[in-house]
Amino acid sequence: MSEKYQVLIIGAGPAGYVAAIRCAQLGMKTACIEKWVDNKGAVKLGGTCLNVGCIPSKALLDSSHKFVEAKHDFDIHGISVDEVKMDVAKMLARKEKIVTQLTGGIGGLFKANGVTSIVGKGKLLANKQVEVTNEAGEQTIYHADHIIIAAGSVPVAIPPAPLVDDVVVDSTGALEFTAVPKRLGVIGAGVIGLELGSVWARLGAKVTVLEALDEFLPAVDMTIAKETKKVFKKQGLDIRLGTRVTATSVTGEGDAREVTVEYSDASGTKSETFDKLIVCVGRRPLSESLLAPDCGVTLDERGFVFVNEQCETDARDVYAVGDIVRGPMLAHKGSEEGVMVAERIAGKKTQINYDNIPGVIYTHPEIAWIGKNEQELKAAGHDYKVGTFPFSASGRAMAANETTGMVKMIADATTDRILGCHIIGPSAADLVQQVVIAIEFGASSEDLALTVFSHPTLSETVHEAALAVAGHAIHIPNKPPRKK
Ligand code: FAD
Ligand code: NAD
Repeated sequence: MSEKYQVLIIGAGPAGYVAAIRCAQLGMKTACIEKWVDNKGAVKLGGTCLNVGCIPSKALLDSSHKFVEAKHDFDIHGISVDEVKMDVAKMLARKEKIVTQLTGGIGGLFKANGVTSIVGKGKLLANKQVEVTNEAGEQTIYHADHIIIAAGSVPVAIPPAPLVDDVVVDSTGALEFTAVPKRLGVIGAGVIGLELGSVWARLGAKVTVLEALDEFLPAVDMTIAKETKKVFKKQGLDIRLGTRVTATSVTGEGDAREVTVEYSDASGTKSETFDKLIVCVGRRPLSESLLAPDCGVTLDERGFVFVNEQCETDARDVYAVGDIVRGPMLAHKGSEEGVMVAERIAGKKTQINYDNIPGVIYTHPEIAWIGKNEQELKAAGHDYKVGTFPFSASGRAMAANETTGMVKMIADATTDRILGCHIIGPSAADLVQQVVIAIEFGASSEDLALTVFSHPTLSETVHEAALAVAGHAIHIPNKPPRKK
């Protein structure tokens, strides 16, 4: 039997590593177990987010956006560039450098805070013990007063489209294409399909997105989803709704390999051939071979670790956080759960507000939202007021040549309390955060309307949308207040 810890954490993604740091800050003897190692056997901290998710995808989104700006948008500012070329290898190397810097940074933070890093695959046993198997197959049993499960998620696979080398890939493979595919197929018009589809479309790929549902982005406010579809169409993304992929086959040799996708839609069965195919139809919790049958932790019907609002599992003193539990699969949701659990273990009464977790799709323009959308409020019979403001009426957006999109603010019809905000536009991710803070403090749309915003900023669109809720927007003609 090895050393005893106050807190043992399984998984060093954004849920686990943040929990570990907070536990250590609170004075607890903490260790974090991680199985991800590089080809030299060194541990890779940071989980999906830092290694193959949020960070590398945003690095490629930023590189490809700069390419588009240089190629198409500089001219309007009077800047001419002779020939714009993309060096894909250099773009990938930059992405890797950022990943290495950040994952190494977590190691530094562990050291600085006194978190012990344990390398190997953890399995929860009964009585708060964890068996860790290292690369060599050696097993060690650790025990702790408290255990936090943060083992995360992996991409969902679908039988008609098994992964094949670098031809049919999941999101991880789509971050590694060494050349721009001429014809890129994407299965799933969700967050990953739109973000990674955009990366390669910007660099010149002809991108076709096959989506099973008849509706585009059903979880996004309907006005914003409609506008988003228009914008993507203009950008050249061919999004085909109501399609069911039935089979895929890879043919050819070496660089000439291609994949033929058979699918059906309302008009019958079809097939299309691509150079590369990304399968991004969701992620699933990584809960298999993680729990001994007698550990006391139970799973729900979809394989998520079952927890309550405080992230307590069915086993005493065992918690679970992040993608492995219910709720949106978002890095910031998992991190905040990690902090909440650490603080509750330390005796505090911390509770995160699950109704106030923002969502973002990092395309260009960005799509971001917080709170309830219009279709949800309609379905719930909740009376609300709406104010919108277009970026085309913002002086700062015009100066930046970023006039596509709008801010849509929704407030309670009676109390005026802000219920939601939905944005498509430049820096939407940062703009929506202002409303997240407003909602956290119970603000009304009038509170935002009475707040002084710097001029000229993109933030003024949030201010104007709040003013528009009461029909007082200054820089657009007001429509009669829209109430439901
Ligand atoms: P993970 O990050 O999956 O980490 C779990 C860790 O546990 C992993 O390191 C894993 O190796 C380890 N582990 C698993 N089992 C064991 C075991 N038995 N023993 C030891 N270690 C184990 N979210 C956002 O909020 N914003 C974004 O922009 C965003 N972009 C994304 C882009 C892509 C392409 C992808 C794939 C995801 C993106 N996400 C984004 C989602 C985000 O990455 C996840 O929500 C987040 O990483 C979940 O954190 P986690 O700590 O719960 O799990
Ligand atoms: P998703 O759930 O966002 O989208 C999957 C899409 O695939 C859905 O539209 C679904 O209807 C469709 N689909 C499912 N099965 C299909 C099939 N057989 N054929 C065609 N379409 C099918 O999932 P994702 O894009 O894979 O992303 C996974 C998770 O990662 C998400 O939960 C997301 O929260 C997270 N993520 C977040 C960000 C971000 O915050 N910006 C970025 C990337 C990923």
